[in-house]
Amino acid sequence: MQSERGAYVQGETCLPKPLEHLSKEEIERKRVIATIMTKTLSHLTQEYIKNGFEWLLPVIFSKSTDPLWPDPGASIEKRIEAEIYGEMVRTTLSMIVHKIVASSLLIPKLFTLSPNVRIERRDRCLTGWHLYEFTQLDFEVREATSSDIMNFVDKLIKNLILYLRNNAKDELEYLESYNRLNVPDLPLKVFDRIDLEEKYGKDWENVFKENIREPAWVVNIPREFYDYEDFSTGRWDNYDLFLPKYGEVLSGSRREWEYSKIIRKMERDNIRRENFTLLLKLAREGKIKPSAGAGLGVERLVCWIVGSKHIGEVQIFPKIPGLVYDL
Ligand code: AMP
Ligand code: MG
Repeated sequence: MQSERGAYVQGETCLPKPLEHLSKEEIERKRVIATIMTKTLSHLTQEYIKNGFEWLLPVIFSKSTDPLWPDPGASIEKRIEAEIYGEMVRTTLSMIVHKIVASSLLIPKLFTLSPNVRIERRDRCLTGWHLYEFTQLDFEVREATSSDIMNFVDKLIKNLILYLRNNAKDELEYLESYNRLNVPDLPLKVFDRIDLEEKYGKDWENVFKENIREPAWVVNIPREFYDYEDFSTGRWDNYDLFLPKYGEVLSGSRREWEYSKIIRKMERDNIRRENFTLLLKLAREGKIKPSAGAGLGVERLVCWIVGSKHIGEVQIFPKIPGLVYDL
């Protein structure tokens, strides 16, 4: 294995090395990426606060977490469960259940920086786009529509690029990203998954990302029970944001809130109801409110901004599927 830009080379793909194995130049590059991470997080969190969102701290252990099923993109090798105080809990796969409950009962407009533990299949180390521990900037808005959320994200991405071009020019130039990172025209383009499937086949995601020049939306994607599905038309009221050459960076939807629909979908998808006891109880009591939201992968966003070959490079302590480093 040779060293190239802070990475081990495995076949065609570079796997980022642990911190203690980096050369002086590789440490310098990692430092600059860390500054971009700081500026990105600082800007994004301020934008949420300015727009009236409240900041929740994340949870790690819960009885309920994201089933990540059925989602054609999910490939979890192992689900982590632990017994604490005589109860079985799971590590957070995403905070979707917490977001729905908190936005229904307490804080109508919320965001969190949430660590997600997803033990991805080890062959995913080579995609350059998967980690087994990553952070979602996850948010939810009571009574919002999909277009509310998509319009908000459009502006968020555009303003972030403007901000970084003005406030991180030296760092972006050092990383050779300044000239690639163009301010997109709004609204970002929207594509229907059905059209993409017709045009590009089953592997539409991989072809699609190569064919866009600016971030773009894909809507109407069949997946987990909590995304809103219109049973009469079969359409899903959900949306993913794709980054050119890199891939999906954000997934979101308008949510299901009606008990009868949630139950019907859980049965159809073979989801274990006992893992969602509280959500179901609140829905049955009419306490779950309609909402919409999304989760943005922080490392994926920064990976695209800095032009990394592998997402593990943007983590100080890389969490690459199949590779467990000391820290
Ligand atoms: P999901 O709800 O599965 O779509 O996850 C929300 C967002 O988290 C995705 O759009 C990605 O940006 C990010 N994400 C999901 N899985 C991973 C992973 N294994 N490694 C890094 N980021 C991920
Ligand atoms: Mg997704």
